[in-house]
Parts: sequence; C-alpha cells; structure tokens
Amino acid sequence: RVPVITVDGPSGSGKGTVCRLLADNLGWRLLDSGALYRLTALAASHHGVSIKDEEALVVLAAHLDVQFTSRDDVVQIILEGEEVTQAIRSESVGNDASVIAAIASVRMALLERQRAFAELPGLIADGRDMGTVVFPHATLKVYLDASAEERASRRYNQLINKGLSASLEVILKDLQERDARDKNRSVAPLKPASDAMVLDSTSMTIEEVLGAILEEVRH
Ligand code: C5P
Repeated sequence: RVPVITVDGPSGSGKGTVCRLLADNLGWRLLDSGALYRLTALAASHHGVSIKDEEALVVLAAHLDVQFTSRDDVVQIILEGEEVTQAIRSESVGNDASVIAAIASVRMALLERQRAFAELPGLIADGRDMGTVVFPHATLKVYLDASAEERASRRYNQLINKGLSASLEVILKDLQERDARDKNRSVAPLKPASDAMVLDSTSMTIEEVLGAILEEVRH
C-alpha cells in the first residue's frame, strides 16, 4: 500500500506551504486537491456554465483536461492547453470553488482523480476532506488549524509583500464566510478526522509545524 499523509484544515492555516515542504523533504508526490475544485470553477466560467448548474458541473469535473507539470521546481497547471497557474488563485475563483465544493455529485466526480495521485514512494494530500473521505486509511492524518485573525493577517502580509493593496477587515470577513461554508455543508464538511493529529499553528512557525509532522512520521 502507498503511504499517504493527509493534511486538512481551513484556508490560511499554512497547509499549502507545509505540504510542499513535506513533499520536498520526503521526495513524495503532492496532491493539491483545492486546485481541482478551483479548476472546475474556472472551467465553468470559461464554458459559460453557471455554478448552480449541477449537471453541467459534474460533466466538467469528470472530464477536466488538466496537467500538472513541474519546471525548475515550479508547478505549472495547464487547463485545456492554457496555463492557469495564477488564474485559479484569484479570490473569485476561490469563492466559486467553495460553492461548487458543496455539491455532492461534483465531489464524487473528483474522487477517483484524487485517489489516482497515490503513487510510490508516497503522497502528501492537501485539502479539507483528505483524511475523512478521500484517504480514510492514510498512514498519518494531520489537521492544521490557526485562529481566523492569525490566518487573515498572514494573507494580508502576503499581499502587502507582493506590493498589492489589501484590507485586513475584508480579508477576515471573506475568510470567515469561506470557513462557515466549508464547515457547515452537508457533504464532507471540514473537520478533523477522528484519528487526526491536530496542530494549532497560531503561534508556531512553518519550521515548527514541519518538524512536528516529520517527528510523527519517523515514529
Ligand atoms: O484550498 P483551496 O483554497 O485551494 O480550496 C478552494 C476551495 O475548495 C475550498 O474553500 C473548499 O471549499 C474546496 N475544497 C474542498 N475539499 C478539498 C479541497 C478544497 O471542498 N479537499
């Protein structure tokens, strides 16, 4: 069986960075499952499909023509031949993704595609339901949390460091809305798996979080 480490948690908990570092450190493959929901949302917008049109969304999700390529250590995401690495990171695509992600049939359509990422020597799976639904038999399950204020301020600093303007208040409000949608939906709600190691990164550095997970892996 292929070893899998799942890392679930809300947006801004540091999951993305921690997962990339874990994958580099162990030489394992990385699944960014949020990207699949974002790609479905972007494909819908390209094809003029409404985010309420469940049937059409399922078809798009099941047939997503996507490639994840790695060049000079930078991951590139190609959707229907077009580079969309940056485009899927916009706030509007993220919001559409979280609406689409509440539809059970869309989640089903993406399930096998996610499981297919599990290949030797191992997989780091980043998402919301990696430990609860997609990889219930994972070797190690991590739930990475942080206070909403801390997550909002991390996002704010990222944007400011990129020279962009941002409002901490707006970021916090958006983040709380997205959290509520992810935690309160009826299908695969965001929550720690019963056997997850729960880490609160509010006052931890990325290095400390990475160290805590690697220590558990080596157990
Ligand atoms: O992690 P990211 O912000 O890229 O995910 C975008 C949205 O996709 C999340 O807000 C969530 O609603 C959804 N998602 C999900 N299950 C996953 C990964 C992401 O529902 N495993």
